[in-house]
Amino acid sequence: MSELEEKDFSKEDLEAKILDLNGSNSPVFVRVNANSPVLNLSPSQVEVAVSALVSSNGNESNPATRGATSVNKRSKRPQAKPSSALMQAKLNAQIRKRNSEGKSDITFVIKDHLQLARDAKEQVRKPSGVVYDMRMVEHHCLWDSSYPEKPERFSVVIQRCQQLGLLDRCLSIVPRYATEEEVSRVHPKEHIDKLRSICEEGGQNPNLEKMEQEASHFDAVYFHPSTYNLSLLAAGCTIDLVNAVLAGELQNGMAIIRPPGHHAMKSEFCGYCYFNNVAIAAQLALDSGSAKRILVVDFDVHHGQATQQAFYNDPR
Ligand SMILES: [Zn+2]
Repeated sequence: MSELEEKDFSKEDLEAKILDLNGSNSPVFVRVNANSPVLNLSPSQVEVAVSALVSSNGNESNPATRGATSVNKRSKRPQAKPSSALMQAKLNAQIRKRNSEGKSDITFVIKDHLQLARDAKEQVRKPSGVVYDMRMVEHHCLWDSSYPEKPERFSVVIQRCQQLGLLDRCLSIVPRYATEEEVSRVHPKEHIDKLRSICEEGGQNPNLEKMEQEASHFDAVYFHPSTYNLSLLAAGCTIDLVNAVLAGELQNGMAIIRPPGHHAMKSEFCGYCYFNNVAIAAQLALDSGSAKRILVVDFDVHHGQATQQAFYNDPR
């Protein structure tokens, strides 16, 4: 989130602003002068603060001479006990009065918390992106046809998106394999080498018994000859989608990919996952300086323990 926009308001502007806010409970962020802290006040508190400041500066101190301004009208209302923020505003005004040696200028900076929303209305949006690769159906369990992590978990999503015309509305990102160097930002070389050797051993004639034996060492994992390459492909797709958003080419996007990633620990295959796609893409975005902090919203019936593990020691 960027800083809220600051604006200088004259006293008249400020009174108009209070009129705008009349009836709203929206907080207003007020800075009494350039060196004072920003106070978070309700409109009525701002109003009282303005009255106090105007009075303390000796400017229009007599309400009767001020005319029927909104400030004047409402200042006659009984007020609740002043808040600490209000007391601070008054104190700042008194300090300012002393410092200004009788000068009556009052500088307000209002931070409008709705400004971002107002600006967003005018913002030109970029297209939504999508990335997927139909080769991702190849990965399946060769010794259990009813294994829950199956190609349909991918193909049904693609079919439904096509039915709804959603894919045509998105900008397609060209799928690519992640490099081993990219994957190594999260996983040690031994982890990457292990998956490659398990999947590629035997070439076109894999030893299923040995593969199943290897899989039995992990929680909810199977191996297929395509698993290594498709895990690189899933990671590469995620990386490029994230990079396109960070580069401002996309407003947002979705990577429809498998194998999935969020249960893949740094050095352990787990829960249908081999390489942690999201963690890799996030780590690369952080390493490149494209993002300082990233919020990963993990959506599953299970805790995304491996994504948490990947950043557990990151002080951000
Ligand atoms: Zn899960």
